Formats: sequence, C-alpha cells, structure tokens
Amino acid sequence: MNLLRTELLIDGQFVPAQSGQTFTTYSACNLQPLAEVAKAGLQDLDRAVVAARRAFEDGRWSGMQPTQRGRFLREIAQRIRDQSRAIAELETRNSGKTIGNALNEVDAAANVFDYYAGAMDKFYGDTIPMGDAVLDFTLREPIGVIAAITPWNFPFMAAAWKVAPALAAGCTMILKPASYSPLTALALGQIVIDAGVPAGVLNILPGPGATLGERIATHPGIDKITFTGETKTGATLLKLGADDIKRITLELGGKSPNIIFADADLEKAAVQAVKAGFGNAGQSCSARTRVFVERSVYDQFLARFVAATKEVKLGDPLQASTEIGPLISQSQWDSVHGYVQLGLAEGCTLAIGGARPKGLDGAAFYAPTILANARNDMRVAQEEIFGPVVVVIAFETESDVVAMANDNIYGLNGSVWTRDIARGLRVARALKSGMISINSHGSASRYGYLAPFGGYKRSGLGRELGLHALALYTEIKNVFVDLEN
Ligand code: NAD
Repeated sequence: MNLLRTELLIDGQFVPAQSGQTFTTYSACNLQPLAEVAKAGLQDLDRAVVAARRAFEDGRWSGMQPTQRGRFLREIAQRIRDQSRAIAELETRNSGKTIGNALNEVDAAANVFDYYAGAMDKFYGDTIPMGDAVLDFTLREPIGVIAAITPWNFPFMAAAWKVAPALAAGCTMILKPASYSPLTALALGQIVIDAGVPAGVLNILPGPGATLGERIATHPGIDKITFTGETKTGATLLKLGADDIKRITLELGGKSPNIIFADADLEKAAVQAVKAGFGNAGQSCSARTRVFVERSVYDQFLARFVAATKEVKLGDPLQASTEIGPLISQSQWDSVHGYVQLGLAEGCTLAIGGARPKGLDGAAFYAPTILANARNDMRVAQEEIFGPVVVVIAFETESDVVAMANDNIYGLNGSVWTRDIARGLRVARALKSGMISINSHGSASRYGYLAPFGGYKRSGLGRELGLHALALYTEIKNVFVDLEN
C-alpha cells in the first residue's frame, strides 16, 4: 500500500486543490525537497465542510451504534500497526525526528485508536434523582464538524490524538496538518479510507496556517476547533471563534520545570533530564527546559548532567542508534542559536553545546545545550526556545523553588525528584501545571493515552487523551420527563 499521498482528502477522494496550487514540503533529514503537496484554498475548505457536514447530518457515522464505530477505530489501529515501519520512515524523512521516536509515536497513535475504540460504548450519561414523578437523564451527543489544526513536531501522533476521540464520539472532521510535515497526516487519511470509514467523515487539507487556518476558525460550518501549536496562534483562534462561541481545545506552549532536590537519585535524575530536555531535539511542548537544582548538589548534579549529555548520539535520524536528529529547519536553528547567544549575554555559563555539532552539516543539527548559572527571570528561562536548550537554576528551599517554577506564563508539565515522597506530593500539588511526574521524566510516553494531557495558564484550554478528551467532543443534553402527565 502506497502511503505517500500528496493530494487533499475530500469526501473520500484524494483530489488536487481547486486552484491547482501545490507547495513543497522538505525533508528535515537533508533540507532537500521531499514532495509537492496540494495546497488547500478557501474553496477546498468549503467543499470539505460540505462533505463533513453531510456525513455528520446523514447519521451514517454519528448515528451508528458506538460499538460499531469502535470496530472501525480498531481496524484503523490494526492498519497503523501493520504499516508502522512505513509510516515511521515517512515521518522521519519529513520531520527529522529519530526513527526510534517515530516508531514509538506510531505505536502510541495505534494505542490511541484502540483506546477510543473501546471507550465510546462505555461513556455513559447520568440519571439525576428527582423523585418518582420525574425521569431526568443526560445524553452525550457528538458536537458536529470538528476542525483539527496540528503542529509540525509530532505530526502523526498529534493527528491521532484528535482524530481518534472525535471519530469515536461520532463527529466528522477536517484535519489541517502543518506545512513542514503534512505527509503522515495524509497517510492516516488513506488508512482511514482503507478501514472503511464512510466518505466525508475525515477530510484532510494541508495548507497555509495564516489564511486557511484563520478561515477555519470563523467558518460557520465548523462547530469546534481543536488546535495544537504556539500560544500566540491559539490566542488568535480563540479570538476569531469568539463571536460564534466556537468550541475550542488548545494545546499550546510550555517551559516546564524539572526540580531536583538534594536527596534525589542524582544519577537517574541527570540521565532522565537529558530525555526530558532534549527529546525530539527539544522540539516538544512538554520538554522540561528549566532545571532547578538544590544549591548543595548543584555542581555535582551539573557535572552528571553534562556527562550524560555527552553520551547522547546525534546523527542520521534514520539510523536506529541515533537519539537526537536535526531541527525541523534552518530558520528554527537560527532562532535556537539566537536564544543561546541571548542566554550568554544575560549571564549564563555554557556548560555544553551552543553550536552545530562537528561533522553534521547536511541538516539543521544543534548540539544539546546546557546554560548553567541561569536565573528564572532571564528571557532564556521564561520563553519557549523549542530546541535542545535547557537552563539550570540553583534554589535554596522548597517554597523558593515552587515560587520560581510557577513564575512563568506556561503550565504544561513538570517533574520533581526527591526520595521524600511527602515532599514530592506537596510540590506536585503546589505546581500550576497540567501534568507532573515524580521521580520519572514522565508517563506521557509510556501510558500517555490513558491519562489527560494538557496545560494550565497559557499552555492551553481543555485536555487531550483519556475520557476527558472524549467529553470535549460531545455536548451534554439534559432530558426531563414528567411521568405524571
Ligand atoms: P504553529 O502555531 O506555528 O502552527 C500550528 C498549526 O497552526 C499549523 O498547522 C499551522 O499551519 C497553523 N497555523 C499557523 N498560524 C495560524 C493561524 N494564524 N491561524 C490558524 N492556524 C494557524 O505551531 P508549530 O510551530 O507548528 O508548533 C510548535 C508549537 O506547538 C510550540 O509552541 C509547541 O509548544 C506547541 N505544541 C504544543 C503541544 C501541546 O500538546 N501542548 C504539542 C506540540 C506542540
């Protein structure tokens, strides 16, 4: 089965853009053109909305028994697993993420489809006790036509996180992937068609965020937006949808803390700080990029952290042994490097990294970088860099570190390392973040699809994954029956 699709998916067919226009998507592995992809315009959006609306209103999908919808989702999961290597290689070629990460994410995507396949027919409403004269109950109804807008850093997985619960709930969809990495979203479209999902239920429109994305936010035929991307883009969508009171879920940026107390297993904490900070070349919303270390073990931890960072294997992302690949583009490299220069100007010390690694010239490689002796009020400690750069900040007391960790506009993720479990739980409660891990760099990678994912403050609105996400693709209707009439 050829998974390389480059046309728009509208109403069950892969078709060129009405304008005939295309755009080039590049391979982050070598910065060379990878494919010409149809560029959706506003007419294509209108056609996709008509198809999604028809597929929703005719009830073939939304009115289907949830168990039966679940069978389609399970079939999608199976087809993803059957073709996981091909999907992962396409993902790596387009986005530059390592093949190991891509395989894990494809597997995670299949798990998400399986999870929601089994969830919808167990997603009960309530009966509300009002006495014998009344029957009052709630229905969970699909919201309608959903538009999903996804980022370039987790292209396949981010699509799956939205498509699986929305389809499980009985919604129909338009998916707009990021132009840097649209290819695996289109492959998912092929898989969904092959699994027998009715035409129009999932439509896929690669195209420019500024025009197509903004029209999605105001389109009267779209009932809900689910967006993953930058905080400022999320704020734009929130404003654009305000007049229509458009439903919205936002998964946005992060600058998450990693707090290391003196009594922690410092070696484990250092090794996992590498994964938490530099995984996916730091192009991860949930990266723990502010490492806070108790003053008494600061030097000792920093030495271990630097040593563990030296061990990381950078290189060809298609090689199984590679742990960190290149950044998505040269402009991302320039932005990351600009932040490192800024950090040094602000008074940080370069503990490791800060440049292109030697011998890796063909793509936007950036060496994992630790900026030591940072302060939480520096811009490098406050702004999302979205590259393999972490700052290390000393702290004196538990209350100081909680105050510093919370002193940021974001609140997505956080880790706490301590052998004192009561303190670990106290800090977990005190942090204003949507996800906390204690003595681990996180659950999201291993069991993520079971638990809610999302942020406090400017990291987002609503949650993905788990039953929490399913709730956000449904409306609650209350029905009151007077049994005495
Ligand atoms: P981005 O906001 O630039 O783009 C995301 C998507 O929005 C793309 O499909 C893009 O084409 C589209 N878009 C851009 N401008 C738009 C506009 N004005 N209106 C509508 N759509 C528009 O983000 P990105 O650079 O692709 O992704 C990186 C960002 O995403 C980082 O800030 C990262 O933290 C965040 N992110 C968050 C999560 C999470 O779950 N919280 C996960 C991954 C990435």
